[in-house]
Amino acid sequence: MKLLTPGPVDVPETVREAMGTPSLLHYGPAWMELYNDTRRMLQQVFGTEHDIYMMAGPGTMGLEAVMGSALEPGDTILIPNNGFFAERLGKVAEGLALRIVYVNAPWGEPVLAETVAEALERYPEVKAVVVVHHETSTTVLNPLAEIARVARDHGALVIVDAVSSLGGVPLPVDAWGIDACVTVANKALETPPALALLSLSPRLWEAVERRQAPRGWYLDLKTWRWYAENWGSWHPTPVTMPTSNVFALHRSLQALMAEGLETRYAAYRRAAQAVRRGLQTLGFAPFVAEPWACPLTTAFRMRDGADADELQAFLRARGVVISGGLADLHGLILRVGHIGLARQRDYITDFLLGVEAYLRSKGIAVLDGISLEALEALA
Ligand SMILES: *Cc1c(COP(=O)(O)O)cnc(C)c1O
Repeated sequence: MKLLTPGPVDVPETVREAMGTPSLLHYGPAWMELYNDTRRMLQQVFGTEHDIYMMAGPGTMGLEAVMGSALEPGDTILIPNNGFFAERLGKVAEGLALRIVYVNAPWGEPVLAETVAEALERYPEVKAVVVVHHETSTTVLNPLAEIARVARDHGALVIVDAVSSLGGVPLPVDAWGIDACVTVANKALETPPALALLSLSPRLWEAVERRQAPRGWYLDLKTWRWYAENWGSWHPTPVTMPTSNVFALHRSLQALMAEGLETRYAAYRRAAQAVRRGLQTLGFAPFVAEPWACPLTTAFRMRDGADADELQAFLRARGVVISGGLADLHGLILRVGHIGLARQRDYITDFLLGVEAYLRSKGIAVLDGISLEALEALA
């Protein structure tokens, strides 16, 4: 089975080996070395000199921790809303009793910074802009640098859901003025699920320190900071950590550092181009216009004679797993991820040849291998 999904992703052999090593203690000198070295590498991927925290749990938990810790019940936030994961952020915010201003764009299109700026003028009470970078449900990459700039001009905190983007596309956190950036270890960072990873700016910490309302204990970042500051030399987290996952992440980050961030980003762009040209050759139109299409995933519309559910099941029977459209997009589009091992030639070949075989099974004439021409550029 090959996963060409937006995450979780198939991870390299070295990372799987790391997962299988004997249990590590989550305290003491050996742990501190691994923990700090992992955070140091994460700072480079995030492009930040500020604090990095690792929390056991999914990305949504990291986002809930940030919003809950930095904002009081009743505070107003603004959410650029153009997909399923933006709506999810709204659900999290509702659960924290925040007031929400949505700035909507159709699914498949970006939310533009101008529309965010207009909304901020109408709602001066907005304390934070909470924005999805790569909206995985549609594969749109929102113009984060520009949105962050208008949010900052307004004096709002910038909180980013970079769950499916960080490590795969440039996201220089400090240069773009992002206060909290949340990702996970199991998408573009290519390890199994278990860890949320957070970068937190001094401005974010000021908001956390000002906050009065109780916000639980595990999910209150004050708790995490207390342990980092008071127990940081030997037991830096309030709770037990999934140590094997941190070890695996350390391995994965070493590989990324050795390869170089720019080289990795370029590999994703090449993989996306190969998949997109192949699909176009086979008559499938892209769902998202190229300037906004994230290089980590490709969403494509169905063509005459093809059915989304049927094609997805056909590929799965051949060992190729891709994702369907969420909510209203179900049946209209399919999504293929290029993350992790899925950016490699063998994965893309199996996928495109599978789509060719499906079309033939529907009586559509397709020259064998015609969709692979753009693969030549891939390593
Ligand atoms: C996958 C994804 C999430 C959810 O991540 P969990 O780890 O399952 O909480 C949130 N936002 C985006 C953009 C995602 O792609």
